Amino acid sequence: MKITTDKAITINYTLKDNDGKIIDESNDSSFIYLHGHSNIIPGLETALSDKVKGDSFELVLEPKDAYGEYNSAITQTVPRDAFGDEKIEVGMQFHAEGDDGQPVMITVSEITGDNVTIDGNPPLAGVTLNYDIEIMEVRDATEEELSHGHIHAHGESCGHTH
Ligand code: ZN
Repeated sequence: MKITTDKAITINYTLKDNDGKIIDESNDSSFIYLHGHSNIIPGLETALSDKVKGDSFELVLEPKDAYGEYNSAITQTVPRDAFGDEKIEVGMQFHAEGDDGQPVMITVSEITGDNVTIDGNPPLAGVTLNYDIEIMEVRDATEEELSHGHIHAHGESCGHTH
C-alpha cells in the first residue's frame, strides 16, 4: 500500500541539524499522522508520498522547505516591565497576535538588564533539517479520522465533537 492522501502513516525518524545534533526523534512507532492534510511540514509530506511500508531514506530539507529562513526583522526588544510581575526566562514561549491577526509563537531569546528580546521566528527557522526516516506502517484512515482531519492513535477517540 503506497502512501497517498487519506492514509494513516507510522514513521520512525531521527532529526538532526547540520552539526549532527539531534533535534527530535521518535523510534518507538508512536509518531502517526494523516497523510495529505498538512499535519506535518510540506517538504516532509511530499518526500513520503508514494513510499511504502519498510522503506527507509534520508531527507535533507533546507530552511525554505521547512520552517523558513531566520528573519531578524521579527525580533524585538521590550522593557521587562511589559511583562508585569511574570518571571521571564530565556527560552520561555508564549502566544501573541501577529500583524495579520494570526496567532504566533514568541520565544524569549535574550535578557540583558531590563531589556527582554523576543523572537517571533519558529524555533527551527533557519535550520537545515536532516531526517533519517523509516516507514513502519501504512493503513487506510477510518471515517472518523478523515472527518476530524487527524488520526486517532491506538483506536482511541480524541474527544473532539466536531
Ligand atoms: Zn479527532
